[in-house]
Amino acid sequence: MPAKAIIISIGDEILYGQTLDTNSHWISGELDNLGVRVLKKVTISDARETILYNLQEAEKNADIVLITGGLGPTSDDLTKPCLAEYFGTQLVRNEEAFANIKAIFEKAGWEMNESNEQQADLPANCTAIKNPIGTASGMWFDSNDKVIVSMPGVPFEMKHMMKETVLPRLKKQFVEDGIYHRMIRTIGIGESKLAEIIKDWENKLPEEIKLAYLPTLGAVKLRLTTDNDSAQTKKQIQNLIDQVLPLIEKYVYGFDDEEVPEAIGRILREKSQTLAIAESCTGGYLSHVVTSVPGSSGWFRGSMIPYSNDLKRDLLAVDQKILDAEGAVSEAVVLALAENIRKSLKADVGISVSGIAGPDGGSEEKPVGTVWIGYSDKNKSVAKKFRFIRNREINIKYSAIAALNMIRINLDKD
Ligand code: AMP
Ligand code: MG
Repeated sequence: MPAKAIIISIGDEILYGQTLDTNSHWISGELDNLGVRVLKKVTISDARETILYNLQEAEKNADIVLITGGLGPTSDDLTKPCLAEYFGTQLVRNEEAFANIKAIFEKAGWEMNESNEQQADLPANCTAIKNPIGTASGMWFDSNDKVIVSMPGVPFEMKHMMKETVLPRLKKQFVEDGIYHRMIRTIGIGESKLAEIIKDWENKLPEEIKLAYLPTLGAVKLRLTTDNDSAQTKKQIQNLIDQVLPLIEKYVYGFDDEEVPEAIGRILREKSQTLAIAESCTGGYLSHVVTSVPGSSGWFRGSMIPYSNDLKRDLLAVDQKILDAEGAVSEAVVLALAENIRKSLKADVGISVSGIAGPDGGSEEKPVGTVWIGYSDKNKSVAKKFRFIRNREINIKYSAIAALNMIRINLDKD
């Protein structure tokens, strides 16, 4: 069984909605990588009774308790005195922590005051965790085979301590069997349809292998998870993946950590193809997504954003008659855009997007969310109509993902 952890985020500002608790999100991911099961995350106020109560509850239920926040020099931060009270001990000056704070103040040329000095006073039973980039020490407590760790709320200080000290120590002390995940990444199919197709395979999965459907914009991830990462289990999971793949092959774009834009880049690279984009309703977002992929300069030629009709005509030679007769959001227009961007930017593949992102601009014939996407290579030009039903921002994101998927579907057939 993997070790169990509870994460406690302390800070009134999180409860007021002023600060987003990104710490527990990041810590969860790191513990998962390590093979520790996170049971629960709690967010609590800077209040003595609440802190003491939650320490007790967490220690009762988990092997590892990771706390962030409440270690500042001011009186509203109470985590440290609460920990001393919880363990029935006193705060004592930690000389190493004191030297660290002094060095930071000297380097910055600041005067130290009493509250700064007191940041070096730590509960007598803890081991200090070094913080070379801030003034609050971390604290490691061993308590009845369990571990309680307190870290600053400042995300980069917390991450530094976790990477340098906490994660390696936890690994040594708690990790035997890790958690093992594999991910099959699909696109262009909804989760209920996917579930229907793989129903028989899913029903036959061994009990110790858990399946999760994780939908995100236009894509669904299938995650297989076990509580042990032995070579035998890894092989077993690979066999299960091999069994299910033939059923869903046309929707699978990649595995594990590979996101859609990276997968499209990989496919284009493998086929030595370059890409050009003419995007109207996505206004540059598709190009942004593409250029966020490291190494995209190897396969992405460039793009144009002919947002207005006259630019579609003047920059990319879309016939004015077609624009008048069919409108900018039409099959004929995206076909012309895809073909002409491909030729004028000297790429192998041209992609075009034209649609009504909303909230205005819809009609009965072309409601908000209607998006035409065009694809062109030297052998063919095709277009597909989509109907997205969300708000402007999400419709734009869906359009970009759908456009990338058009590349995968059409290039793969060659
Ligand atoms: P503290 O250790 O409570 O003095 O926290 C210092 C600062 O870290 C706060 O002002 C927040 O901006 C930030 N912070 C605290 N807790 C979190 C958290 N859970 N996630 C992200 N930032 C946090
Ligand atoms: Mg605080």
